[in-house]
Amino acid sequence: MEVLTPRDVPLGGLRAMTVRRTLPQRQRSLIGAWCFLDHYGPDDVDASQGMVVPPHPHTGLQTVSWLFTGEIEHRDSAGHHATVRPGELNLMTAGRGISHSEYSTPGTTTLHGAQLWLALPDSDRQVEPTFEHFAPEPVTAEGWEARVFIGSLLGSTSPVMTYSPLLGAELTLAGGTTLRVPVDPSYELGVLVDFGSLTLDGKPVAAHELGFLDPGAESIELTTAEETRLLLLGGPPFGEKIVMWWNYIGREHEEVVAYRAEWERLLETGSSDRFELPEDDPLEALHSPPLPNARMVRRGP
Ligand code: MN
Repeated sequence: MEVLTPRDVPLGGLRAMTVRRTLPQRQRSLIGAWCFLDHYGPDDVDASQGMVVPPHPHTGLQTVSWLFTGEIEHRDSAGHHATVRPGELNLMTAGRGISHSEYSTPGTTTLHGAQLWLALPDSDRQVEPTFEHFAPEPVTAEGWEARVFIGSLLGSTSPVMTYSPLLGAELTLAGGTTLRVPVDPSYELGVLVDFGSLTLDGKPVAAHELGFLDPGAESIELTTAEETRLLLLGGPPFGEKIVMWWNYIGREHEEVVAYRAEWERLLETGSSDRFELPEDDPLEALHSPPLPNARMVRRGP
């Protein structure tokens, strides 16, 4: 078991919300197709202004929004306008190209959740953009509760569409619980601790840390001394190297440079073969940052 610690990243602006990023890291780019993990809050929205992310593009990935507290308004260029609520999955497939905005709602005083990305396999990364919503029925037993939003765990299966085998679940354990969770031995696994702390197969993982396990085990053991909430993520090793820069995922430097140029063309001329803007968005779209001086490198297994 390897413990990955988060680094703090400002989401933009001087007083803006700070997120704890545990993926990607120098020592680990992916867990299955999970390639990006931002964990934030509980955040006092009056002090931080909450989440204010104007329209921006994505390619080659799916975004997973998972909230513990608060609400976020989502708009995308495929015509979806949705409210992201605690315990409900919002899965946006960028595919060949989408843009979206995310704003915490006026009624939100505390924002607490996670924003994750799934890399699309090469065979499916040009699919048409789409958006799915799913509210999993909680599974409970003595000392624990689970919400399985992607894949199958503890007798619960999510119906949402992913392009590689994956697992995504929220678990809350009472203090003094030991829970043995059957898992697919072909999956590598990540356990992100939201609050509380636990031992994962006997080794400690503190709040905000991500415990990583290689494939091979038929089950994992979670033990808590205090009430603890976590996200359990997994999938078979992705097997493809990816180029990830800003909000784009591609396979080569030149491809990502072309995505950037196409988004800037949309903002300057109003026309693009790949991107559109969400309708009726209250804020102006974000420009891509300047390209790095060095070639973007492919990362992954
Ligand atoms: Mn986004």
